[in-house]
Amino acid sequence: MGFYESMGLSPLINASETYTGLGGSLMDEETLRAMCEAGRGFVDMAALTDRVCDRAAQLTRNEAAFVTTGASAGLALSAIACMCGMDERQHDMVPDASGFQKNEIIVFDGAFRGLIPYWRLIGLTGARIVAVEPTIEAAIAAHRESTAAIFLFPGALYEADVPNCEEAIPAFKRAGMTVVVDAAAQLPPASNLWHYTTELGADLCIFSGGKHIKGPQSTGLIVGKRALIDACRLSACPNARIGRAYKTGKEELAGFITALGRFVAEPEEARYRRQMDILSEIDRYLTANAPVTTQFSREGRLGTHQPLLFVTMPPGKRAADLNAYTRSLHPPIDVGVYGPEFGRPENLLFLNAYNLTGDQAQVVAKAVCDFVNQ
Ligand SMILES: *Cc1c(COP(=O)(O)O)cnc(C)c1O
Repeated sequence: MGFYESMGLSPLINASETYTGLGGSLMDEETLRAMCEAGRGFVDMAALTDRVCDRAAQLTRNEAAFVTTGASAGLALSAIACMCGMDERQHDMVPDASGFQKNEIIVFDGAFRGLIPYWRLIGLTGARIVAVEPTIEAAIAAHRESTAAIFLFPGALYEADVPNCEEAIPAFKRAGMTVVVDAAAQLPPASNLWHYTTELGADLCIFSGGKHIKGPQSTGLIVGKRALIDACRLSACPNARIGRAYKTGKEELAGFITALGRFVAEPEEARYRRQMDILSEIDRYLTANAPVTTQFSREGRLGTHQPLLFVTMPPGKRAADLNAYTRSLHPPIDVGVYGPEFGRPENLLFLNAYNLTGDQAQVVAKAVCDFVNQ
């Protein structure tokens, strides 16, 4: 019996997304081995952290990097760094930021704020969140002495009604603002690991380790300017400050840096082709066995560089009902259902091969056919 079965659960097949609620992604064998090895010996943790962070900076072509417990921790630590800099007395006072010279963080207002709850994490630090009309001019006008930074959230859905990073970051840098980007799920391409910072000029950028990078689910990465990364570390574990709540163990550090190395080393076309091969197999089975129409998308749900297979079922067959059906199977399968915020038809589903292996293609395709044909 496997571990999940011993807990009375069935491991499921993930044909949808690197959702946190499904376990994010799966670590490769080499990553799992690194975690096991790290768990077998003691080490000087400060030195391990230095080495891992230096290596992460190198792999992501950034000046500096810090490995933390998730993009969420990255949001909090970045906000603290922008408010406190290297002032240790202020780091000690977080989350009472009321007396700080810089204690306000700007975010764009707009429809996306209701869809993406992550901006609220900035508030953990005591920062006052200032939501401005989503234009570059309004954000620059709101920038004043007490502004610590502006935080941006790229992604096709989130940027639907706000200026995108390509326009906004250079404009905010010209206006002298500190810019932090939460690009937690904006991978692949791996080049996004340096796009927002070294190419567009953002001061810090944050990624999830447990989504597309395929590291431990409890890891995250902050990359960018050395001074701000050093400031993040002042509040981070092992210091007994707010970031002590975000402790990365030796196992996570080992797993994360191994996964990151593998992620940046995989050629983009190979990663894309691997997913395309799986989706093509599903597509052939579906179109031969069920009255559906299919279409390949060259973009992921949030605009990432990965293929998706769109499947339109006959009218009346709802993607949400399909998912309820496939989740009841053994093994359960999670298929891609667009939430209402995407404004897609109810009979459209998406299939994503990022977390699929070749031998799961037939299982997924057959389950979809069985639902459509029943
Ligand atoms: C997933 C996500 C987060 C949270 O990331 P964790 O690594 O799970 O903490 C933050 N911001 C965005 C935009 C995300 O997609």
